[in-house]
Amino acid sequence: MATVALSVLFAVAILIATFLTGLAWRRRHEGAGFAAIAAIAAGATWWSLATVVPLYSRDPTTVMIAISLLYPGVYLVVGGWWATSRALTNRFWRLDRRSLLLLSIEPVLATIAIATNPWHHLFIEQIQPTAINGAYAATFGPLFWAHTVYCYILVVVSAVTVFRMYIRQTGRYRGYLLAIIALFPASVINLTGILAGGRLIDLTACGFALSAPTMYWVARHSTPALAPVVHREVFQNMTDPVVVVDPAHRLVEANPAAAGLLARVGIETDDVARNIELLLAQLPENAEGDYVLRNVRGIGIDLSVRVSPLISRNGEPAGSILVAHDITEQIRQTEQLRNQLATIEALRASLAEQAASDYLTGLYNRRHLMTELSAALEREAEFAFVLLDIDFFKKINDGYGHNTGDDVLVHIASRLSSSLRPGDVAARYGGEEFALLLHGMSAAEAVAWVDRLRQTVAAQPLPVNGVEVAVTFSAGVAVGNGYRCPVSLIDDADQALYAAKANGRNRVEQATRHLTPTAPPSR
Ligand code: GH3
Ligand code: MG
Ligand code: MG
Repeated sequence: MATVALSVLFAVAILIATFLTGLAWRRRHEGAGFAAIAAIAAGATWWSLATVVPLYSRDPTTVMIAISLLYPGVYLVVGGWWATSRALTNRFWRLDRRSLLLLSIEPVLATIAIATNPWHHLFIEQIQPTAINGAYAATFGPLFWAHTVYCYILVVVSAVTVFRMYIRQTGRYRGYLLAIIALFPASVINLTGILAGGRLIDLTACGFALSAPTMYWVARHSTPALAPVVHREVFQNMTDPVVVVDPAHRLVEANPAAAGLLARVGIETDDVARNIELLLAQLPENAEGDYVLRNVRGIGIDLSVRVSPLISRNGEPAGSILVAHDITEQIRQTEQLRNQLATIEALRASLAEQAASDYLTGLYNRRHLMTELSAALEREAEFAFVLLDIDFFKKINDGYGHNTGDDVLVHIASRLSSSLRPGDVAARYGGEEFALLLHGMSAAEAVAWVDRLRQTVAAQPLPVNGVEVAVTFSAGVAVGNGYRCPVSLIDDADQALYAAKANGRNRVEQATRHLTPTAPPSR
């Protein structure tokens, strides 16, 4: 009767464990936890199969062999549970070679002990008939106890790992508790069996076979509960510094990157809290959004800080999360670029000025004069245009030399520009000829203005290269009213200048449209 009942129990356990082995193994790519549970289920299957033998065989040798062959099932169950605990607590966990090596040390030793047992009987002392229909069971030696203690240590350590995860988790996932509780029946059965010392049939495998579905279920449903773990991993592994502070700007948490950054700015890690508060003092109160902290603590590091407020579940401010970003290099490059742009702009302006000015006198050149003249003709009702030519300049060149001639030109040019009102234009028209653009002046006003200038120039010889050079000029004045094109205005001023020369030089003439020179000038 007992044999039938036990047979049914084992059959159910083996069916469940086999089915689950396949089920979990098929999901092994979804997470290391499934492969681990497949190992538990496969171990339970194997262990159960080996335990069925003594139910039916009364041959001591066969039973001895079956019991000896049972242990790979034990290793799989215990190792599988250890791996399950790792996988449940760390989504990214994988069984690496080192762990596998460490994990197989004890099974290898135990296997050697079992294989050599017939000579020393230190693992299985003997097998003896039990009260259950005379089925054989084993009594154990010291090596078995060492093996059992090792297995229990591994099982308990793994259970503690899972339990700590359960405690640490926000929104605790009850599945973890379930996974631990599922271990109890099997463990109790096992302890009872081995402490009964050869009087009972070992039912531990059935216990594990029946707890494996629970493990599988936990692994299936634990992924959402793992999210906080994932967040934690992200927080810890982010290369950008992240700091969480409470509403009073007191430090709640800082990730390793933040601690690294603080170390770089010379803040001791054990002083993080106080110093983060100091750093935050650089931010406005109730800061939110992006901020740039320049030259943090005066050591030349620039940070971009994004401040996001944290709101608690009941809608109250719960502090802020700060994500910093080292932008020192970026800012350096931007500034370099800005400087380069400024240089380029200065060069451009300088080139434009060079293109508009005369190299010797620094006055505007003829090209720029034409631009100004066209603009004045377009927008102004009244302005005067003066062409001015130094008298007998050839003689100055001949008498004092070409260099002195140049200096005379420079002197006259500076005389002209210093006499002008702001906004008026003086240009070198060519050779020893200059042009003036006098805004808002009538012909009479311009003639009077130029004549005063003529008088002062004629009255004071210019001190050039240690000699006094007497210089006079003649000028022709035209007013811009009614002209459409600069060329005819210049033409008229030139004719007036021609007249001034013809009428004896060192004088100013006003253009009349039908002005005709009395005699050809000697130029
Ligand atoms: P006029 O009173 O009729 O104007 O007599 P002028 O000698 O001033 O007239 P002309 O046009 O015959 O001579 C102008 C001279 O100016 C000829 C040229 O050698 C000289 N000249 C032109 N450009 C420069 C210059 O840049 N530097 C110097 N030193 N002389 C120049
Ligand atoms: Mg001249
Ligand atoms: Mg001339």
